[in-house]
Amino acid sequence: MARPRPLQCPFCDNYLRAPIDINVKGIEVTGGICTCGAVYVLDRTAHNVGDIFMDGLTFVCRGDIDKALTLGPEDYESEEYDYDQHANRIGRTSKTGKVGKIIFIRLVN
Ligand SMILES: [Zn+2]
Repeated sequence: MARPRPLQCPFCDNYLRAPIDINVKGIEVTGGICTCGAVYVLDRTAHNVGDIFMDGLTFVCRGDIDKALTLGPEDYESEEYDYDQHANRIGRTSKTGKVGKIIFIRLVN
């Protein structure tokens, strides 16, 4: 079980700011972009991870949903963490009901 730690990119170890609301060509996401090209998206309730993941793929394609739909598992890497919005920390926490999911996605090649 991972200890909570600051929000950090799993691909390049860059420290990241808290997710913000972003509109990418009509797709509403809450997340951000790392300097390495990875994106992160937040699912506040952790109940819509499938939808949020699709939004994340669209986001990493800079809003190009047609490209996002053609991506296969070999085209990207992803990591998923529990996320504490109040502390801006990822990892497992003992608090219930306040933990969302944060998903990092980076295109390969
Ligand atoms: Zn990064």
